[in-house]
This record gives sequence, structure tokens and C-alpha cells, in this order.
Amino acid sequence: MNWITKFIKPKIKSLFKKKSSDTKEALWKTCECKNLIYKDDLFKNLSVCPTCGFHHKLSSDDRFKIFFDNKIYELIKTPVPKDDPLKWSDTKKYADRLKIAREKTNQSDAILIAEGKLNNILVTVGAQNFDFIGGSVGAASGEAFIHGAQNAIDKKTPYIFFSCSGGQRLMESAVALAQMSRTVLAVNELKKNNLPYVVVMTNPTAGGVTGSFASLGDILIAEPKATVAFAGRRVIENTVKEQLPEDFQMSEFVKEHGGLDMVIERKYLRSTISTLLTILLKKKEVKPISQTDNVTNIQEALPKTSKAV
Ligand SMILES: [Zn+2]
Repeated sequence: MNWITKFIKPKIKSLFKKKSSDTKEALWKTCECKNLIYKDDLFKNLSVCPTCGFHHKLSSDDRFKIFFDNKIYELIKTPVPKDDPLKWSDTKKYADRLKIAREKTNQSDAILIAEGKLNNILVTVGAQNFDFIGGSVGAASGEAFIHGAQNAIDKKTPYIFFSCSGGQRLMESAVALAQMSRTVLAVNELKKNNLPYVVVMTNPTAGGVTGSFASLGDILIAEPKATVAFAGRRVIENTVKEQLPEDFQMSEFVKEHGGLDMVIERKYLRSTISTLLTILLKKKEVKPISQTDNVTNIQEALPKTSKAV
């Protein structure tokens, strides 16, 4: 026992301990390849691992920052329905889970909608944040998606959606399932209005999200090595009684089997989608984005941190 353990109260010691591990967690991230990456370096590379190329998850805001021209966009206010319609409780109260998710993400629910320009074309963009209860879809996320489609129709813009979700939100049960048909109807309205709807499936896109609005894009894109699935791998293996290939439900596998149009690296998403929109909207006057100009650094968009940190 040294003088610190002898004289400093356990509560104070635990405060010091917590602070140091929090700081470590705030500055470093462990990648799938087991490499520890300095978070600043990861942001500079659009949250793609410089060693193995793994595409890490992005918050809705970070997604907007790397996608819109000059990181300029306006968040569209979406309706927020009454919380917790079923008064759900499991190991924790749903109301408490919502509170924690809101504090963690600074979002009212899992989907944010924004409007801005991509290569000078006005677009409406939606993005799911996995940090908000696994990006799951309940009434509020359903409303946000539909509101995004309505914004696209009102302003006559294409609708681009970045999906990242485990599926429908268990704690809203049938209310969450109802969002599948509601969002599909919203996509139908976009199509009636001849507006391009482009989906980018990011890791993971699963369950009711794959089973509804995420699979209905005019063009279906996915990021490399993203899980794109409806039912889980184990459920399928137990049903078909067969061992499935290792890359089953990975975006490259899904594309090879006709479930996706393309698999595109994050740094080429802006140039690829802008070229697609130019063709779909028949905008001959828009010059394509050069791929060398394509990388937009998240770090530049973030508030500057002290060099001493
Ligand atoms: Zn890696």
C-alpha cells in the first residue's frame, strides 16, 4: 500500500481512474484489424481505417459534413411524435433509453434530414445514426424519413438516404412495424413525382430497414464490406441447414448476387452520386466532380481542438 492508496479516498481514486480511461477512449479507436488508430487521423481519412480500409460508422452530422458541398447544409426540422407509446420496459425503461441516446447523440431520434447542395445540385439527404439505439426505426424515425421525402417533393430535389440500422425498434413493437409500410408509401410518392431516390447502405443495414425503404432506391449503393441483411445469419443457417459462405450478407456478396447496383468507397460517394444525379436529372451543364477533389476532410469541418490535447 503506498501513500496514495493509504490516504486518498476510494471515491476520489475512482474519479481519477475514470478520467484517464475516458480520455484514452476519447482519443483512440480500435479498428476491426485490431490496430489502435488516433481519432484525429481516422477523421482525416473520412473515418476509414488507413490500414485495412474498414469503413467506420459516422454520426448523421459527420455524414452530412463529408457529403455536402463545402460542408454547408441546413437541418430540416421533423415531427417528433409522443415518446414511448406502449410504456415499454425490459431491463431498462424505454423512456430512460431514449434519454441516454439523446444525451449521447444530441439527436431527438435516429434519423436526421438535411438539405444542401451536391456539386451544386440541391438535394435532400437523410442519415441514420447507429449510436441512437442501433439506428432503429420507431415512430419518430418513420416520421423523419417521410418528412424528408415530403421536403424532396416540395422542393423538387432528389432524395439521398444513408441507412445504418439493425431494423425496427423493438420497444415500439407494432408502431415500429407500421413504419415499414408508411416509408414504402413515401418512396412511392417520390417515384410518382419522378424524383431520383438513391440509397447508400452503410454498415450495418438490416431487418425492417432492408425490408422496406432502404431496398427501394432507384440506385442501390453500399459501402465496402458493409453488412446488408434482412434476417440474421444464424436464423438462416438454422432454417436452411447449410453452412453459408463467409462473406454472406457482405455488400460485395450481395452485389454479386444482384441485390445492389454498386459498392463504392466512401471517398468516391460524392463524385459517383453527383454523376448519377446529373444523368438522372439530364443536367448537361453540370460538370462532374473530379475524383481528386472528392475527399472532404471531416476534421476540417470539426471545431478546432487545442494542440496540447
Ligand atoms: Zn483497420
